[in-house]
Amino acid sequence: MTWTPSDWRKLPAKHIPSDYPDAAALAAVETRLKGYPPLVFAGEARRLKQRLAEVAAGKAFLLQGGDCAESFKEFHPDNIRDTFRVILQMAVVLTFAAAKPVVKVGRIAGQFAKPRSEPIETIDGVTLPSYRGDNINGMDFTPEARNPDPERLIQAYSQSAATLNLLRAFSNGGYASLANVHSWMLGFVDRSPQGERYELLADQISKSLDFMQAVGLNAETVPQMAQVEFYTSHEALLLGYEEAMTRVDSTSGEWYDTSAHMLWIGHRTRHVDEAHVNFCKGIKNPIGIKCGPGMEPDELVRLIETINPQDEAGRITLISRFGSDGVAKGLPPLARAVKKSGRTVVWSCDPMHGNTLKTESGFKTRPVDRILSEVRQFIDVMNAEGCYPGGVHFEMTGQNVTECLGGAQAISEADLSSRYHTHCDPRLNGEQALELAFLVAEKLQA
Ligand code: PEP
Ligand code: MN
Repeated sequence: MTWTPSDWRKLPAKHIPSDYPDAAALAAVETRLKGYPPLVFAGEARRLKQRLAEVAAGKAFLLQGGDCAESFKEFHPDNIRDTFRVILQMAVVLTFAAAKPVVKVGRIAGQFAKPRSEPIETIDGVTLPSYRGDNINGMDFTPEARNPDPERLIQAYSQSAATLNLLRAFSNGGYASLANVHSWMLGFVDRSPQGERYELLADQISKSLDFMQAVGLNAETVPQMAQVEFYTSHEALLLGYEEAMTRVDSTSGEWYDTSAHMLWIGHRTRHVDEAHVNFCKGIKNPIGIKCGPGMEPDELVRLIETINPQDEAGRITLISRFGSDGVAKGLPPLARAVKKSGRTVVWSCDPMHGNTLKTESGFKTRPVDRILSEVRQFIDVMNAEGCYPGGVHFEMTGQNVTECLGGAQAISEADLSSRYHTHCDPRLNGEQALELAFLVAEKLQA
């Protein structure tokens, strides 16, 4: 039977709101979106798949990161630029250490919808639906804000389009040129230990560039010096929107979800017979699968076989997210089962989602120590199992936030309230993200 983008509608679908007050208005918005231009092109998604195939073969490294949830309120060119430049900095650190190309994928330009552990929230005796992401409802604790509003899908589409447009300009218009390696430094990271380390590395790169220039190599002869490939991704959660963005590619005749280059299946929606897996099976984009507590080895192999029956390299990225306490026990059985199945995958580590805790004062936070520890253990497990530790997946922002505990600035519980801005999960700030990059770089060299 041939797959169609609406097949998921016949299956159980978790974490998709069913409480839109006006179902006809939602359907009308989805029809409008079907007529809107694609945000990315199938050929770009195919190129990312080739890049990920190189990661699967151990010849490149995947760096995937960005916001937990983008928001309408934080939509500003400076925020997009700052996230982009932290990713560039991290990529430079990793490229230098691993001497391998780094495939850069943002959680950006479409990362709005959130699965929530609790569908409702009660404050002072008042119960309302939980906030589900700016493309669904609003954060304010009022019945009006918490009602799903289909017009938010249009706003999210527009924001994604404008964000992507700016990212394309940053990637190809000169900003990402290696000649600017010093200027990507964020003001607040400047005088920190990570900042100093980065400056030393940037000096070395500048010297190498001077040498290359002297022997006649420059941005005209080597375009990679002046531009980067930057890809977008988000969780394929809100399937009505994803369906509307899914189009037949005129070159290959195959379905691609044109809302992002790469989509992933979340920890809560990875059931093989349910809607989200059915949807991702049919689109030809690279697909991520979050692997965490409770996932059985045979379940994972079945998922891989379902989504990638032809064992196409670069199609599947497995994103381990067990937490620093769980990874040493949880990951080896999965790694072994996948290896035994002979399937081609990228293994990446999300050290964020298994390390979230709540402080006594009520802040959701993540200790940087645990984040770093999970990455270290992930690399050790991969090496011990004869698999390649191919990437990291993290939540960060270029803003100087105080959302994760620790790091070189030693953010304490008392500091969290000073700049806690996230719309969902706590993110690494620019400095903590750079610390993560240096740690991975060291560990990969060891
Ligand atoms: C996320 O990546 O934002 C997320 C919700 O992750 P997970 O599905 O792994 O919990
Ligand atoms: Mn998150």
